[in-house]
Amino acid sequence: MADRTLIAGGQVFDGTGDEAVAADVLIDGNRIAAVGRAIPAAQRAGAAVLDASGLTVIPGLVDGHAHLGFGSTVEHLAGRHASEEEKALLVAHSGRVLLDCGFTSAYSGGNRLPRVEVAARDAFAQGWLPGPRLRAASWEGSAGQVQPGVYDFPGTGGRASDPASVARFVAEMADAGVDIIKLTLSGESAVIAGTSRVIQFTDEEVAAAAAAAADRGLWVTAHAHSADAIKMAVRHGIRAVYHCSFADEEALDLLTAARDRVFVAPTPGIIYAHLIDPAFPPADVGEMRDALDSVRKVAPELKARGVRLVPGGDYGFAFNPVGRNARDLQLFVDWFGFTPAEALRSATGYGGELMGLPGELGLIRAGCLADLVLVDGDPLADISILQDQGRLTAIMKDGRFHKLAAERRSPSRALAGR
Ligand SMILES: [Zn+2]
Repeated sequence: MADRTLIAGGQVFDGTGDEAVAADVLIDGNRIAAVGRAIPAAQRAGAAVLDASGLTVIPGLVDGHAHLGFGSTVEHLAGRHASEEEKALLVAHSGRVLLDCGFTSAYSGGNRLPRVEVAARDAFAQGWLPGPRLRAASWEGSAGQVQPGVYDFPGTGGRASDPASVARFVAEMADAGVDIIKLTLSGESAVIAGTSRVIQFTDEEVAAAAAAAADRGLWVTAHAHSADAIKMAVRHGIRAVYHCSFADEEALDLLTAARDRVFVAPTPGIIYAHLIDPAFPPADVGEMRDALDSVRKVAPELKARGVRLVPGGDYGFAFNPVGRNARDLQLFVDWFGFTPAEALRSATGYGGELMGLPGELGLIRAGCLADLVLVDGDPLADISILQDQGRLTAIMKDGRFHKLAAERRSPSRALAGR
């Protein structure tokens, strides 16, 4: 008999943004078999029963801008000079920490060790290492760099346009097995002062990247603070646009027109970490304060226009470690005016679409993949409780429990429907 579990008596948030309703959820193998108040006894018979009374059942969370390779988590801060081997282990470690936080999927924002990321993706999928479903990304390419992964943001002014080398980069990353090509279309003032609004690629370089990626069946993600970088991303059909801090009216219009194919990760977590988090000395780096003021206007406007915003806050730095990821949902509420249900939909239903599994991931519906989190309490009343690992009573990925609190384990496999 297939391995079946009935999650009974919880409040179910289905990932669409609708309020939670009382319902049972039947899992069969790695899929959700049925959802409802009255699953027929014949269908439930023989399933193991998990008492979910007092719990809210939500789809597994999706981080839309994840970095498993930055090296720091809430459990371990990476040393400054970790060896390549240690960095590889930290990718695996970060995946496990992320899964412990209820994130059953991660859409990567780049990794300096793309082959490690690909190996981690496959290991997580095969189930011999704990970690989320992963869409693996290239290192963060900017054109004209001296060497891979060095964020020198040279701009486009003092160098020749070089579409051939950009296309070659895409081909190399495709050969390495990534799913996503990451392009740093504007710089990053938090790394090199004054570069956030400086374009790093020529138009023909982005065109070459987009064509090469399409040729190999890869998605493209853009790091884009400036309005011009956002416009460049949308015009070249780039699928995910990060930050969007300084979008102007024209950039907002372009994103709106592309809303059926584009995702935006406004990435508030890193801003919070830089400017506000009391756990670390506030560092008013670069244009971070300007970015905060601007993105607090841009993100609500994009939401009002129906653009899909997804959480993901550049977690992985020592001052912004992996494990704090659910804080982005709170910032969606506190800074961007989302209701908790809207923030959760961004992290679940929209997340499933971002992962390339629309209608199959990020939803609690018959036929969907069985990625679930059982939350002690009501995150739709208080989204902050998702940041408390102790409130995550159970975490299921692909039909298997990664975590199940001892008090919810039944002593015997009670028969459902009695
Ligand atoms: Zn990033």
